[in-house]
Amino acid sequence: MATTETSRTNTAPQQLPYHKVKIKKPGQRACNEPNAKGKFCGGHLKRWYYMTDAVEQACGDVAKAWGPNTEVYRCEHCKTLYLPNPETPSGLNVAGEGQLSVFGLTIPPKEK
Ligand SMILES: [Zn+2]
Repeated sequence: MATTETSRTNTAPQQLPYHKVKIKKPGQRACNEPNAKGKFCGGHLKRWYYMTDAVEQACGDVAKAWGPNTEVYRCEHCKTLYLPNPETPSGLNVAGEGQLSVFGLTIPPKEK
């Protein structure tokens, strides 16, 4: 029987010297990196502005590898970096899209 080599992702992101890098699944908002106890980390993925991150500026490998304006998300818990899924159209409102009802009325996004 043939092995299922194709199940291995061929879009594995470039790893950085000081950061673990993963690809975010469409709609993914929580880190799925296994932690020390073998469970999912579950930390929130937040947009990471590495150019204004003092710690990262001392390290600098993200900007060196991807340039200054790459869309990057970082787990607030284990600091794993997530790149947006290439299949996800960029420019989507990060705060959440307004929902269109089936009746054609626009329901505004919930505001806090
Ligand atoms: Zn995490």
